[in-house]
Amino acid sequence: MRKSSKLRNLISAILLLVAVSLSAQQAKYIFYFIGDGMSPGQVMMADTYKRKALGDSVPLTMMLLPVHSLQTTYSASSPVTDSAAAGTALATGVKTKNSMLGMNADSIAVNSIARYLHDNGYGVALMTNSAADDATPGAFYAHVTNRGQHYEIGRQAAESGFELITGAALRGLEKDGRVTDLADYIASQGVELLTDPEAVAASDSRRIILTPKSSLWNWDMGYYVDSNEGQMTVEEMTVTAIRHLSRHTPDSFFMMVECGSIDHASHANDGGAVVKEVLAFDKAIETALDFYRSHPDETLIVITADHETGGMTVGNNHTGYSARPEYLMPQKISKEIFSQYCDDLMNADKKPDWTEMKEYLSENLGLFSVIPISERRENRLKDVFNATFVDGQARRQETLYSNFNQFAVEVFEMLNEKAGIGWTSLAHTGNFVPLFAIGAGAELFTGLNDNTDVPMKILKAAGVQPQ
Ligand SMILES: [Zn+2]
Repeated sequence: MRKSSKLRNLISAILLLVAVSLSAQQAKYIFYFIGDGMSPGQVMMADTYKRKALGDSVPLTMMLLPVHSLQTTYSASSPVTDSAAAGTALATGVKTKNSMLGMNADSIAVNSIARYLHDNGYGVALMTNSAADDATPGAFYAHVTNRGQHYEIGRQAAESGFELITGAALRGLEKDGRVTDLADYIASQGVELLTDPEAVAASDSRRIILTPKSSLWNWDMGYYVDSNEGQMTVEEMTVTAIRHLSRHTPDSFFMMVECGSIDHASHANDGGAVVKEVLAFDKAIETALDFYRSHPDETLIVITADHETGGMTVGNNHTGYSARPEYLMPQKISKEIFSQYCDDLMNADKKPDWTEMKEYLSENLGLFSVIPISERRENRLKDVFNATFVDGQARRQETLYSNFNQFAVEVFEMLNEKAGIGWTSLAHTGNFVPLFAIGAGAELFTGLNDNTDVPMKILKAAGVQPQ
């Protein structure tokens, strides 16, 4: 047996022993991690990158937790759920139709476990690197027929009474370019609206909505691969929530931490960005595990996803029985940022030159420098380059969050081909998602879970009855 697998087995055995021996305890501190769009393909590609590219043979922290199971994600209206119906199922235990939030399929409002736990004295934090009014956090506090009702969702965030809600933005603060009264309404509800993560610890307010000003877009704080300076990480979100809740509700708390950018990068079929988002999410999980080690008999950590996005696989038709995750290492920019760069070039006075573009691709994505590109592949890239920049053909690729320049689409397709990443969709899929757990009540999650089972089991672990 290799040294690394011995170590892995030992860690798993110790964690399982601890989990089983303490399983009778009640969960007073609950961490609910939701990797949006994070399925076996996303997890395994990140783990393969860690092992093969970074030379680190210890698997992802989430993979080392003692309880592993599967979760089904279909909604009341489709085998392929959207984040609103999936978020509602994971928050309330009720299936609903795609686009609906915090309501059952008959449009009747249903309570989330965050509400039940809050009513039982638990502090609540809802943290995401997507927008604070996006589907996943919204499912825990809002009740609307459509996830796009951002102004209404923002008001309901203020009314929730929850201790901390964090995300890239509150999109209801503006409508049609005009400022709404949402900020005033939030203040009238006794909630402080902050834009500096450091200010949370300095504030005396118990109820805070944080939308970090460093966020790159209003739908996402930004990708790690873009090294956006000052960007709040999911790990920092977890630390901030632990500190805030430990201060205001030290006896019991519940936090939901979502990594929405795994989904966004998967919609874009940007494999390198996905891998780095999953690794960052795993660091946040490590932070929760540190907390668990100090409170092992009272802490429950559950990690799952709301659905799969993109149909991502380790391996594709170009690489066959192989994959080259090390080709993702030189990537310094996301597909969004590269597409923006291409759009700026199209609007510039000077036509771009292929030699300069090759240098840019080599510098920022490793193509031609680290990743060998055959003449046939270079000609393919050049054809799209000429069609886009010389002939000015403006074909676009539209996804839920972005609208990509065709040359950026071609370049990222080639990156995926070379790295051995397969994609089948620009949308979600109905595949299984994984569930990992440790701590008080973790054994409840063994066996197959439907998404509606997960929140009910969390309540059971906490000894709280839904009213
Ligand atoms: Zn999505």
